[in-house]
Amino acid sequence: MWTRKTEKDIAEERKRLLYDVTAPLGAGVCVLFGAFVSLWIRPRPWIAPTLPMMSFLEAAKKSVTFAIFTVLLAYLLQVVTGKPISKVLSDRCVICNKCARVKVLDPVARCECNGTFEDLELWKWTES
Ligand SMILES: [Zn+2]
Repeated sequence: MWTRKTEKDIAEERKRLLYDVTAPLGAGVCVLFGAFVSLWIRPRPWIAPTLPMMSFLEAAKKSVTFAIFTVLLAYLLQVVTGKPISKVLSDRCVICNKCARVKVLDPVARCECNGTFEDLELWKWTES
């Protein structure tokens, strides 16, 4: 059944996130490749035929800068919001505090059972 997380649960989750750098690093690697490909494989003749080709080293340096920036930003976002980065970016889910119906957040604030919806992140599933 769904139960509300305790203060302790939330504190533990936040603490775990402080040491979890997998997702921010993953985002950084994606940006590194993306930026490098788009910087080095220039000029894209169909966009800017006169742009000079960036050197391999210059493109690599710029991509690494972008990647480091992304990792830091993703990590900060994760720590500040207290959620893994994948959940920060995805649709927010809410749960009814009476009948425990789960849905993606929409403008309807009241459930058919007359309960109200709360952030699913504040609830946990427990075997009863
Ligand atoms: Zn309900």
